[in-house]
This record gives sequence, structure tokens and C-alpha cells, in this order.
Amino acid sequence: MTSEHSIQASIGGVSDLKPIVTVCGDGQLARMMQPAAAELDIHLRILASKPDSSAAQVTPDVVLGDYTSLEELRGVAEGADAITFEHEHVPNEHSAALIDAGFNVQPQPTALIYAQDKLKMREKLAALGAPVPRFAAIDSVADARAFFDAVDGRVCLKARRGGYDGKGVWFPTADNCFELVSELLEAGTPLMAEEKVELTRELSILVARRPSGEAKVWPITQSRQENGICAEAIAPAPGLTPELSQRASELGLSIAESLGVTGVLAVELFAFDGPEGEDISVNELAMRPHNTGHWTQDGCVTSQFEQHLRAVLDLPLGAVDALAPVTVMANVLGADKDPAMPMPERVREVMQRYPQAKIHLYGKDHRPGRKIGHVNVTGEDTDETLTIARQAAHFLVHAEWA
Ligand code: ADP
Repeated sequence: MTSEHSIQASIGGVSDLKPIVTVCGDGQLARMMQPAAAELDIHLRILASKPDSSAAQVTPDVVLGDYTSLEELRGVAEGADAITFEHEHVPNEHSAALIDAGFNVQPQPTALIYAQDKLKMREKLAALGAPVPRFAAIDSVADARAFFDAVDGRVCLKARRGGYDGKGVWFPTADNCFELVSELLEAGTPLMAEEKVELTRELSILVARRPSGEAKVWPITQSRQENGICAEAIAPAPGLTPELSQRASELGLSIAESLGVTGVLAVELFAFDGPEGEDISVNELAMRPHNTGHWTQDGCVTSQFEQHLRAVLDLPLGAVDALAPVTVMANVLGADKDPAMPMPERVREVMQRYPQAKIHLYGKDHRPGRKIGHVNVTGEDTDETLTIARQAAHFLVHAEWA
């Protein structure tokens, strides 16, 4: 363990009684675990890449290191009651080695693989009988041609691993599909394809599950993506029938249990018009707090960040009841050009105009399209609440009212 770690830990005042949770990762998801950890007097330690990263700015115990190094993972795991993640990139063989050495890794690599590899996820969910779009492994241009014909050209091509925020997702046409497939395969990108869904909206199921089995599911959330990036979320999803809400909740719980997920699981869903009304199929899985769950910070008895810590420590889960008829989360995504008005002044303006807006900033510098914060607003009326959240987020991005 680095000397930096020992210094920080002694400042943090770790006693033998405090639970210690190590989080691999230093972005906004790890950052937002810290307020929950402080409330419960859980000692949070992060494995960070930079001393000024989003989470490192607010966490008492920062270990600088590389999550692809088993030795460094071992160092940061030492003494922790649970080791968890805010991303899916820690190599599974390292997690397995930590488990073999007696460390408590949650979620375990046997579950995490289904959040890492989109083809494995599709195969597993199909085998479990969960609704998924038609899909195929794409190992050659011939595979792509066969799938393209099978779905009448309605193709969504995906990198099996490493994609995020729409990077690694393509909607090719007959004109460019096979050239694209050939280029990507030559560049060493493992591929899969699935049917392009005529989606009417996107929903998400958020579940938390403990190693000993207790699981809870939050109200189903609707999200809207722009260019593959989550722009806003509304919870509970407006107009969802009680039957579909129930079916989605049960689907989330059964996926969490069947895959042995621990901590927070997000199941992203496609909603579409089926023969008997609105229907759903699974898009993808994330095994960590998720952008579509940020609303739980201000709109729910227990936030996803607190619940993740409780779950990985195998503590009883908190209630997941919504606190208001509707909660809206609007992301603050860096503008093409950062406005001259400094962020603290933008924050003051938004506070002045919308005292009900809960502003969450990630301590990140501006970059176009980068997630730098979000705003949560609770209310009675969906349109009104959505307007306030959008206005507030828009001002934080552009320093002008929409
Ligand atoms: P990422 O891992 O980058 O989040 P996703 O697989 O979630 O990628 O895809 C990003 C977005 O692309 C989705 O939120 C959805 O809007 C769209 N998308 C993905 N797969 C399909 C599909 N099969 N049909 C239609 N749209 C899709």
C-alpha cells in the first residue's frame, strides 16, 4: 500500500468498528457514494487514477493506482469489508484472484461478466427467457450479411465490450454496413448485432440485492437519450400500466437473482408497441449505480448510492418508496463552448430562480458533451417538474434561460 494511503487513512480516522468499503473507480458515481458513506459512518476508500478526479476530491481515503494491476488491487482491498466498483473494467481474473485470497468482492465476476460483454448478456438473458431483441454474434462479414437479411436491414451493430454513452453502437444501412463490419473486425473489435427496435421510449429497472438474497426494486424510470447519452429521467415512468410496471419489476428482480448480482443493478429497457399495447425488451445491464437512478437521491427514501453501500456490505436494504408523485433528473452536459459566466455564478442564478432544484455537480472541468452534473426536481405535475429541471440544467450548461 502506498504511503499516501496510510496518511489519508489516519486523517480519515478509521476505527476498527467502522465498515470499510473500497470502490474501484474515481468518477461521479464513486463521488456520490461519499455523502451516503459519511451519513452511515462508513469509511470509503477509492482506487483512483488521479488525485484531483471527481471522487478523489471528496473521499477521505484515496489510493492512486491502476485497476488493471492485481498487486495494486490487493493493496487497496486490504482491510476492506467489501470491494466494489463504479465501472465494469476491472479484469475478472483479478476479481477472482481477490476472492480466492479471501477478499469480499461485490458484485462477483460471475455476475459482472454479463455487464461487460453484450453478447454474453444477450445469450444468458435469452436462456433465462427474458425478452430480448433478435441478436447474433458477428465474427465475419458473412455473419453480418446473414443477420442483415434476417432482420430486413433493421440492424443495430454493437461492440461487445467497452462501449458507453452510445460509443460502440452503430445503425448501419445497406450502403455502409459490411464495410463498417469489416473495418471494425480488422481493428480487433469483437462485434454483435441485434434487431433495431422501433422504440417508443426507454425505461429502466433499478434493483439492489444483498449477497444473502434480500432484493428491492425502485419505481420504474423513464429515460431519454440524446446521441446515446442519457439526457433526463422521470420517475415513476409516466403512464406505465400497473401490469407492465409489475412485470418489469419482477423481471429486474429475477435477473438480479438468476445472475447472482449484488449491489445496484440497472436493467435498461426498450419500450415498444406490441400487439397488446406497450411492451418491453432488455437493452443492457449495468452492475453499479446508474445515471437513470440519480433521481433517487432526492426523490426516494433511500438513494441508489446508499443502497449500493448497504447491499455490498450485506446490510438490510432501505425503503425504496418515492417521496413525491414525480421526480425528474436532468443531466448537465458540457456545452460545445463553455460560457464565460463561471459555474458558481450559474449555480447562484439557478438557486435564485428555482429553490426547489437540487443541484449535483461532479467537480469536473468543462468538455463538450461531458457529464458534469445533474439537477433533481420533485413535484406534483410531470410537465411542470420536467420544465423546471430542464430550465435549471440548461442554465447550468449555457448560462442563459431556454
Ligand atoms: P451504451 O453501452 O453506449 O449505453 P446501448 O447499448 O445502451 O449503449 O445503446 C445506446 C443507445 O442506442 C440506447 O440507449 C438506445 O437509444 C439506442 N439503441 C441501442 N440498441 C438499440 C436497438 N437494438 N434498437 C434501437 N435503438 C437502440
